Amino acid sequence: MEQLLNRDPVLSRVAAAEEVLWINPKLQPVKDGLRDLPLGMEDIRDAQARLARFAPFIRTCFPETAPRGGLIESPLTPIPRMGELLEARHGASVPGKLLLKQDSHLAIAGSVKARGGIYEVLKHTEELAMEAGLLTEQDDYSKLATPEMREFFSKYTVQVGSTGNLGLSIGIASAAVGYKVIVHMSVDAKQWKKDLLRSHGVQVIEYEADYGEAVKQGRAQSDADPMSYFVDDENSKNLFLGYAVAALRLQEQLAEQGIAVDDNHPLLVTIPCGVGGAPGGVTFGLKQVFGDNVHVFFSEPVQCPSMLVGMATGLHSKVCVQDVGLTGMTEADGLACARPSGFVGGVMEPLLAGEVTVEDRKLYVFMRELLESQDIFLEPSACAAFQGPVELLKQPEGKAWCETAGLTAEKLANSAHIAWATGGALVPADIRAAYEKMYL
Ligand SMILES: *Cc1c(COP(=O)(O)O)cnc(C)c1O
Repeated sequence: MEQLLNRDPVLSRVAAAEEVLWINPKLQPVKDGLRDLPLGMEDIRDAQARLARFAPFIRTCFPETAPRGGLIESPLTPIPRMGELLEARHGASVPGKLLLKQDSHLAIAGSVKARGGIYEVLKHTEELAMEAGLLTEQDDYSKLATPEMREFFSKYTVQVGSTGNLGLSIGIASAAVGYKVIVHMSVDAKQWKKDLLRSHGVQVIEYEADYGEAVKQGRAQSDADPMSYFVDDENSKNLFLGYAVAALRLQEQLAEQGIAVDDNHPLLVTIPCGVGGAPGGVTFGLKQVFGDNVHVFFSEPVQCPSMLVGMATGLHSKVCVQDVGLTGMTEADGLACARPSGFVGGVMEPLLAGEVTVEDRKLYVFMRELLESQDIFLEPSACAAFQGPVELLKQPEGKAWCETAGLTAEKLANSAHIAWATGGALVPADIRAAYEKMYL
């Protein structure tokens, strides 16, 4: 452990479960950072086109998506009153606009997992149907919702390991297509998420172990069944690309709201991170679209900063938070992944600006403050997104980083900071009421 901690000066504070701001020393300009990656803009466009083909099917299965024509997309909402609260109560400095990307309110799954998770299920569905000669790209994909097609898909199984939200997204989407679905839930998973899945006819297997073990068991069961497909959260390029499409949608939303992103108008983004797939995919998309004018930070719980430990040591999936003496336990169930994705860590190395960590207690403070100031509810995991705006310009490391990144006071005054709200809409009323009283 001593040797691990020597790899980066911040790590001893991380190991002491302190809140930190870590600046990624391996960040590169996008012209270098994006060059050698295994995926590119054409892959994101391909995913975007696939989601467009599936829109008529999504609209048929999930009528709540009809207003957006079967696209699953969330609002981008200015939250100036929250910005004022963060400045008044946390000593934050938020010189530009503060915005909330409300993936908490994405249709179907109520979390960012509605991007990657549903995309992966749809991609698999398209492949199966095309191989069987039942579908071409020119078809109206709403035909996939007919009883004959459901009968065809019912022969197949989809399985996934999850701390909760990925299971919800894969489970609900797979059940809608007609698959048999098995979700392997880690000990962190909330009871209501298991109950909700069972109400969709999903088989939920519960483990007393952590996320890594749930994934391992799920993969083994799926591999033993030739009709079963395993969604691999740690390594899936499909999930990753589903998340990345968010950047193209965000580009349109920013333009609609007249918010510029260019040399003089930097975009800052803070995204809560678990195993890394969702924030990694979104970041990859953002760097493709906005290049060096976007600066992305991840936010993780102080007891479970797995991506930070992976990146700061350079060991990625070869290290877990227990290796530096942390518990991995957090009330932010969506972020409770003790070992980061190696695939995502590698891709993020030249692209991510840095990370912040946050105490569990503070997630509930942010939650109440957002309710108070903007009347918007997020689940605790999602509230980690506010730690970026709060800490970035307060910490000496952050101020030094602004200088290196060329973010002058003038540019910061023109900036927008997006807190990426990753989940919340499906939280039942009684659980929400209990959350609102936590740590009071
Ligand atoms: C899954 C999730 C995240 C993080 O996504 P990863 O792919 O695990 O990094 C963040 N917030 C919420 C609410 C989530 O469900």
